[in-house]
Amino acid sequence: MSIQIFGLPVSRGVAIGRAVLIASSRVDVAHYFVAVDRLEHEIARLRLARDTVAAELEQLKNELPQEAPHELAALLDVHLMLLHDEALTSATKVWIYDRHYNAEWALSAQLEVLARQFDEMEDPYLRERKADLEQVVERLLRELAGSSLAAAAAKAGKAPTERSVLPTVMGEDPLVLVASDVAPADMMQFKRSVFTGFVTDVGGRTSHTAIVARSLDIPAVVGAREASRLIRQDDWIVIDGDAGVVVVNPTAIVLEEYRFRQRQSELERARLNRLRHTPAVTLDGQVVELLANIELPGDGPGALEAGAMGVGLFRSEFLFMNRGGDLPDEEEQFEAYRTAVVAMQGLPVTIRTVDVGADKPLERMSAQELRHEHGLNPALGLRAIRWSLSEPGMFRQQLRAILRASAHGKVRILVPMVAHLGEVRSILEALARARQQLDEAGHSYGQVDIGAMVEVPAAALMIDRLLRHLDFVSIGTNDLIQYTLAIDRADEAVSHLYDPWHPAVLHLVQRTIAHANRIGKDVCVCGEMAGDPAFTELLLAMGLRSFSMHPARIASIKQRVLRADTRWLAEQLPALLASDDPAGVLREVLQGRPGH
Ligand code: PEP
Ligand code: MG
Repeated sequence: MSIQIFGLPVSRGVAIGRAVLIASSRVDVAHYFVAVDRLEHEIARLRLARDTVAAELEQLKNELPQEAPHELAALLDVHLMLLHDEALTSATKVWIYDRHYNAEWALSAQLEVLARQFDEMEDPYLRERKADLEQVVERLLRELAGSSLAAAAAKAGKAPTERSVLPTVMGEDPLVLVASDVAPADMMQFKRSVFTGFVTDVGGRTSHTAIVARSLDIPAVVGAREASRLIRQDDWIVIDGDAGVVVVNPTAIVLEEYRFRQRQSELERARLNRLRHTPAVTLDGQVVELLANIELPGDGPGALEAGAMGVGLFRSEFLFMNRGGDLPDEEEQFEAYRTAVVAMQGLPVTIRTVDVGADKPLERMSAQELRHEHGLNPALGLRAIRWSLSEPGMFRQQLRAILRASAHGKVRILVPMVAHLGEVRSILEALARARQQLDEAGHSYGQVDIGAMVEVPAAALMIDRLLRHLDFVSIGTNDLIQYTLAIDRADEAVSHLYDPWHPAVLHLVQRTIAHANRIGKDVCVCGEMAGDPAFTELLLAMGLRSFSMHPARIASIKQRVLRADTRWLAEQLPALLASDDPAGVLREVLQGRPGH
């Protein structure tokens, strides 16, 4: 039966494919296709893992002390029985043979199928056996991880799903990922992965999971509440990333309509691509800087390819996440920053100091676990610069690594979530100390500008004082909206109140830009607003000339810049800001603009 599920659109376009359901806790399992001549080898890996786990369980059972409760032995018997059950092992082999999934993926896929069957059981005792099944699969996955390509790839610092290291099978159905929740760091694993679209149950439009999905430039819908319950493994689904709709098992007519739209957006993409290397200059000759937001050092070439004139935001925290508490040392960080700087071939690279906390914990955690673990308001807690200043040694280490990278190109340091002048003082002291340490160690470094993100209303309200001490600012509208409107950006329950057009938000953005321009200091917007064409003219009218966004957005923003006349737009600004409906008024004035 065909059904529609509504969520939040986070990444444009249409994806059509078969659903791959992944439990949130198993999102980090490797997903790749196995070449036909390696299928037997994959089955052998699975068999070996099963035999090893069986031997472990037998041993555990034999070693149970005499006085151990009888239930323990019975439980191990249940686990052994599940391990040898045809419903698990034979069916898992089918996923490998028919679909060419790697063993871990096949096992997780089969677990999802069986887990649903358990959920539907009437008998509470049998229903509870689902937890046993999950434990058995967990053991198998752990065993497989020891021998897996995922482990090898992780050691080599590569995402396990990277196409370059993984054999793929031609002619497979396209696949779309469906999960209750995907942590931002796990989302990173899907860069260049086999999936052509994403659906998650939770998440807001500017949650970091959504941001990473957007940077992958594939259609995605988040906050689709019941999606992972309603969609079944292998269902055909359409992800409408423009409307935020997921169609499950579409009818032939609906499918045809979406295929048509898919072709249209591919044509549009190809057309926009031709603008890649056209300079972004407005009709009245204003040069606009279009920069890239990146998450990994390897993202540099893609940014250049998209026509970016530099990196406006390198979210360095992704280097720190999911490492089991083992943080990257100065050398590793230096190499990462240098890679990005060298890749940009002399163009500026703005490296943001680590922004962990809130929905980007150092360790892998789902949104639910986070809320549970960190109390009610992790977004108001020890995150971003607050965390860095609470770990001064680590902060200086990061500053040293960034400074050293500046010997290889133009680098700027950007500090997230600044709210106090005291923080600015501490940042400048840490920077001076880091320079001194490098001098003592004989390391070279270049001239580096230091700036703050304007993400908290306090920063926008005291922009004059902040800029007395800093070289530039960059407006993080995602957080600025969150903190101005008191809306958790990762919480889909309040996502309808997350309003970038809110007059209070526009007022803070405008005063920040106006003040920086007045005193001749650089100001950029690097939140999602910068890559949303609905805001391009408004930001230009406010005087913004530097926008940083996902590389995939650059061409569409450039198209709007090329058609804009900033003098005329600036004249419309007072009416826009005074209106209760700035979006509506902007649409109207753009329709009536000269030459339209
Ligand atoms: C922002 O808050 O707008 C921003 C760019 O930073 P992040 O999305 O990483 O919090
Ligand atoms: Mg932010």
